[in-house]
Amino acid sequence: MTSLANKIQDVFNEPGCDKNQGKSEKERKKGCTKQLAPGAAAGGCAFDGAKIALQPITDVAHLVHGPIACEGNSWDNRGAKSSSSRLYRTGFTTDMNENDVIFGGEKRLYKSIKEILDKYDPPAVFVYQTCVPAMTGDDIGAVCKAASAKFGKPIIPVISPGFVGPKNLGNKLAGEAILDHVIGTVEPQYTTPYDINIIGEYNLAGELWQVKPLLDELGIRILSCISGDAKYHEVASSHRAKAAMMVCSKAMINVARKMEERYGIPFFEGSFYGIGDMSDSLREIARLLIERGAPAELMERTEAVIAREEARAWARIAPFKERLTGKRVLLITGGVKSWSVVAALQEAGLEIAGTSVKKSTKEDKEKIKELMGQDAHMIDDMTPREMYKMLKEARADIMLSGGRSQFIALKAKMPWLDINQERHHAYAGYEGMVELVEEIDKALYNPVWAQVRLPAPWEETSWEERATKALEAEAAALVADPERAEEARRAKKVCSCHNVNVGAIEDALRADGLGSVEAIGGATHAGTGCGGCQGKIAEILDAMSSAGAIPASKAA
Ligand code: SF4
Repeated sequence: MTSLANKIQDVFNEPGCDKNQGKSEKERKKGCTKQLAPGAAAGGCAFDGAKIALQPITDVAHLVHGPIACEGNSWDNRGAKSSSSRLYRTGFTTDMNENDVIFGGEKRLYKSIKEILDKYDPPAVFVYQTCVPAMTGDDIGAVCKAASAKFGKPIIPVISPGFVGPKNLGNKLAGEAILDHVIGTVEPQYTTPYDINIIGEYNLAGELWQVKPLLDELGIRILSCISGDAKYHEVASSHRAKAAMMVCSKAMINVARKMEERYGIPFFEGSFYGIGDMSDSLREIARLLIERGAPAELMERTEAVIAREEARAWARIAPFKERLTGKRVLLITGGVKSWSVVAALQEAGLEIAGTSVKKSTKEDKEKIKELMGQDAHMIDDMTPREMYKMLKEARADIMLSGGRSQFIALKAKMPWLDINQERHHAYAGYEGMVELVEEIDKALYNPVWAQVRLPAPWEETSWEERATKALEAEAAALVADPERAEEARRAKKVCSCHNVNVGAIEDALRADGLGSVEAIGGATHAGTGCGGCQGKIAEILDAMSSAGAIPASKAA
């Protein structure tokens, strides 16, 4: 566990992550870990994050060492597609039981590895540690080493037990596992000046395949995609790429940065979402390759492809623009960068009623402001009730979100489109942008909405009318009773990690005259968990200082 603790500290110190670097040393040690509520971690733990990041390596066996539920929770819960091997979709688990807890599960793990190699003969086996063997002390690293020596195949330990933190930390620990045991262990058969790595792209719904044909046309070879539609040997030989693109925010920033440090592979952070971002990414790939020795004419060819593809995409979007212009979208997105999607939707003529920024970095927020103006409606955390209200009051015509929020839209009888990792449609590149617009159009103009909005013939008042009346009555009661309204305002949760509300922060500001977000954190713990609410705390601080409510001598 000590080496795991060191590894986690190393990940938290990641120089490439501005969010971590923006924190004090003490805060950085805690990382972005949001305390997990016991029993509520299923599917969102560090183990799950590690599995998401590596499972798209399609020809290896992914063996989960733990009770069967861990594999059950994480099996195939993302639509990462493969162009050949299907082995990655087979769930392997040691299915630990009470005996293994008492006597240790190492033997069972060793036997499971052997059985997989005998039956499936994969090029490698990835062994995932989960909470139970981490607590009972199974030495997974030693078992993998012994099995590797005995069977002559790489057996890769992925040390990321669920309890160490959330999914995002698991993504990075998965990156550490391949950096330590896979990348650089195999030489590619040949190299070209056009070899690139794409890091943090998981080929969800086949998105990589919307981009790859354009790279193929330009003669650019994806030496390895880490890890969408990847083969073990591609990842193992990825250290010979000339340049890399890091997709999907900061999920695997440690892999990109350490490959630059160790193998001199420069990288840039880009996105395949939206026409403008897709073009910028192609240009940046060409620029980096030219810098590393590819012929300069690559840029000319790239510009020609961009011009052709942009024109084609716009021509295909044009018929929809008239139908979509002015329609308002409520965008609640997690994994996909908000600003990237905002730009893409604006390109199609849609207006953004609000966008979530819970997982966005400071730079992402600045970029959103640039795109949507200073008054951009950015939502740190929106309760289901607020989302419902927004849709119901027609401040938004459609909600784009992950599957968990879909029922709010359905209850409000408003169109909804899945844009998170479970989505079935691919939205990358020029092709994907056209598909996104088509899907939004289909959802908005589906005749079912007119039907479901009609009251049921047997109901005098529908449940929505009753719910709306209840909401109106609640709002009227608050207006009539300023004391209760003030209580409700003060009770609004700011920091979910430490359960701190507006009132507690305001009281601390008044009493102690705190002058910074950090000082408020010291006094109330607000903002010291995942850090996602620090923007809200800063707003309260600003509002109170402008109102002169903080003792002047103490405020910074
Ligand atoms: S690794 Fe731990 S937190 Fe994650 S699913 Fe298994 S038991 Fe639950």
